[in-house]
Amino acid sequence: MKYIPVIGLEIHAEMLTRSKVFCSCANEFGGDRNDRVCPRCSGMPGTLPVVNHDAVTLAAKAGIALGCTVNNYSAFDRKNYFYPDLPKAYQITQFEFPICTNGLVHVLDRDIRINRIHIEEDAGKLVHDDYEGISMADYNRCGVPLIEIVTEPDFRTVEEVQVFVEEIALRLKYAGVCDAKLEQGSLRVDVNISIMPFDSQEFGTRAEIKNLNSIKSIGRAIEYEIERQSELLDKGQKVVQETRRFNDNHGNTKALRSKEEAHDYRYFPEPDIPPVYITDEEISDIRALMPEMPQQRYMRYTNDYKLPADDAKLIIADKAFSDFYDSAVSVYPKFREISNLMLGEVNRNLNDTGKTIGDVPFSPEDIAETIKMTDDGKISKNAAKTIVKIMFESGGTPEKIAKDNDLIMQDNSDELEGIVEGVLSENEETVAAYKNGNEKLFGFFMGQVMAAAGKGTNPKLIKDILTKKLSNNQ
Ligand SMILES: [Zn+2]
Repeated sequence: MKYIPVIGLEIHAEMLTRSKVFCSCANEFGGDRNDRVCPRCSGMPGTLPVVNHDAVTLAAKAGIALGCTVNNYSAFDRKNYFYPDLPKAYQITQFEFPICTNGLVHVLDRDIRINRIHIEEDAGKLVHDDYEGISMADYNRCGVPLIEIVTEPDFRTVEEVQVFVEEIALRLKYAGVCDAKLEQGSLRVDVNISIMPFDSQEFGTRAEIKNLNSIKSIGRAIEYEIERQSELLDKGQKVVQETRRFNDNHGNTKALRSKEEAHDYRYFPEPDIPPVYITDEEISDIRALMPEMPQQRYMRYTNDYKLPADDAKLIIADKAFSDFYDSAVSVYPKFREISNLMLGEVNRNLNDTGKTIGDVPFSPEDIAETIKMTDDGKISKNAAKTIVKIMFESGGTPEKIAKDNDLIMQDNSDELEGIVEGVLSENEETVAAYKNGNEKLFGFFMGQVMAAAGKGTNPKLIKDILTKKLSNNQ
């Protein structure tokens, strides 16, 4: 490739407040059209917006999660434009004084600078009915609180962008700011991309691709754009500054409109909302309220719990799964054993049944109990897997499932002693070799006794009896 891509992102995230950002309508997803609107969020003249305190707190948390400065002073502005899903004909946003600035997130080998995070309101939605040939305006989303995260143009590869978006989604989830569901639109990514020749220092003209809704589409859209812009420059033509839409079916981007400049929106300070002041003390209170973030959890899992790095990452990648794991180890702190069962058998059943950990009919305590029964020699490791499978199908406690399904190992010590003696007397030469120091032969005896004793025998018990018999010198 003769060119270097230069990429920056604008990420919109819907915040998890109970009500909208400037009125008391519920902030929810789904439902009937226009059943969560009031005079304020539907833009009736003369109504006054009131800032939702929680929206400010969550935006500050997002800033802390992304290494930003939370500003003591921020203020709202009107961004003026007309579109049928925006009944006021302006959007309330923060233009000149955003709530957070100057963040930094490290991904792969690169530092990505966050220019700013500001609070704004979402617009409504147009629902197009092709059959009737009409479009309807649904204002339920009007006034849903958003943050917009704006990065500097610091990305140079597709992979950096994808890893970054996953990282941001994870941090916002852990911080409780946003549920970060790309597919449902609670996290939306706009990509600004230009290319420049290898020996150049000067950025090229950029195109903006709007509203990408999966990690995969982000990658495909960027790759398409790099190719499209490279072809233009190769032919001596120019890239036009414009907004483009990515078509998932065709894998290409199409021009939507020429890119507006800030002055096209005639921004001015929102006269109906006083500026937001946050004291240093309030900022440190918010900081103290921050839940454990994924990086911290990773350190706890790898340093304190001694989990392998890959296992720790897998658990942390799903917050609910990780919370479930934490509850299980808080009951019975066998970190590695519980991790193995969850990443193995529990995950396998989640995949098979299409469930998420939030839907399963058993509790973290049940997983802890299953491991404890294995440790106590009541059930075998295989039985633990069977128990997990049955818990997925019909719930129930591990203890009861083990009894009902004959999974409890028998304590048949007397009978076993006989079997062990039999095996040893049939293999006198091997016993002698073992006693002469070939300790590896222990496995051979274990195998022989297991085979003779049959299924359902507690291996720990066999091991104990064998050790006893072999160490005695008769
Ligand atoms: Zn409302």
